[in-house]
Amino acid sequence: MAQKRDYYEVLGVSKTASADEIKSAYRKLALKWHPDRWVSGTDAEKKTAEENFKEAAEAYSVLSDPQKKARYDQFGFAGDQMGGGGGFDFGGFDLNEILRSVFGGGGFNFGGGGFDFGDFGGFGGSTGTRASRGQDIRTRVTLTLEEIAKGCTKTVSIEHNRPCPECGGKGTKNASDIKTCPTCHGSGQVRQAMRGLFGMQSYSISACPQCGGKGKIVSNPCRRCHGTGLERIREEVTFQVPAGVQEGMQITISGQGHADPNGGVNGDLLVVIREAPHAQLQRDGNNLFYTHFISVMDAMLGGEISVPCLDGAYKLRVEPGTQSGTIVKVRGKGLPSVQGYGRGTGDLYVKLMVWIPRRLSRSEREKMEEIRSSSSFTPDLSREDRAVFDKTKNIF
Ligand SMILES: [Zn+2]
Ligand SMILES: [Zn+2]
Repeated sequence: MAQKRDYYEVLGVSKTASADEIKSAYRKLALKWHPDRWVSGTDAEKKTAEENFKEAAEAYSVLSDPQKKARYDQFGFAGDQMGGGGGFDFGGFDLNEILRSVFGGGGFNFGGGGFDFGDFGGFGGSTGTRASRGQDIRTRVTLTLEEIAKGCTKTVSIEHNRPCPECGGKGTKNASDIKTCPTCHGSGQVRQAMRGLFGMQSYSISACPQCGGKGKIVSNPCRRCHGTGLERIREEVTFQVPAGVQEGMQITISGQGHADPNGGVNGDLLVVIREAPHAQLQRDGNNLFYTHFISVMDAMLGGEISVPCLDGAYKLRVEPGTQSGTIVKVRGKGLPSVQGYGRGTGDLYVKLMVWIPRRLSRSEREKMEEIRSSSSFTPDLSREDRAVFDKTKNIF
């Protein structure tokens, strides 16, 4: 057997790479070398892809496990043999488990390229419960904070596969034109035993090259869908967005993904939430932050300001003697929590900054000079003032 390559070299990451970097490097390799991508390649290409795919999975299985990684870092491949009977086994890993941990349990659809781990039973769908299911579709929707505060209804335009209306999804008009694929005997998969690299028997499963994973051969294909049984259509999908959602959250709209080519259930539409920045308010979790400049006079004498809130303007009283940097909490004027996540409604924090005029008229200047040396104007920080500045450091 050929000399094993260093795991870091295999994944193309440095020894100091973070867990995320390692994961992302493996993800790229798994996508590149997945056997399903090479079904139409030459035998040599298929073999290379398969070997690289396995090699990357093994490297990832070690480098993603803190204990195994530490052992590998310290002893290299020798660490493999050191554990004795109950010790480490760098080669022993569950490929399905790795793929699931990196790509998630459901289908991973990248750009409608027709490659989906959930699509064929061997990989993503190894639980066996999801026999046949169309691919999921991912899209995103951008929301304003106002929409997030109240929840809203959104419509997205997507393209998904639906059964061809001409043949009803069968790919041909005559049932007698559909034959079971002789290569895979109807399973849609070809399974190939791989040499047990480290004494472990494993299989490579890929979509059947003859029928493309459908398990059937259509001899007189429908003219409208060319025998695929599917048709790609653009549709608008309307859905509810609950109040309080955050950037990166995902809403699943059941059944709006692709139709299943084998007549199973539709995939889902996964909508990822994007948050549009607000002109004045900043969000942190359920809380909102806003900075307002007040005049020197308002700071000294007190006054009232109008604060932009997501449900309209809010009048806020400025206390006489307000220091620049004072933070006022307006309870309950933040964002609500999404049902079932966190609790209660956030608050709005208003930071009051005192604006100092840059130019004064002659008469203003004269009046100011008059009170310049008045004792009240000499800085004398009370304990209260200090508390304001200490608080300010940690917020905004
Ligand atoms: Zn087949
Ligand atoms: Zn058709």
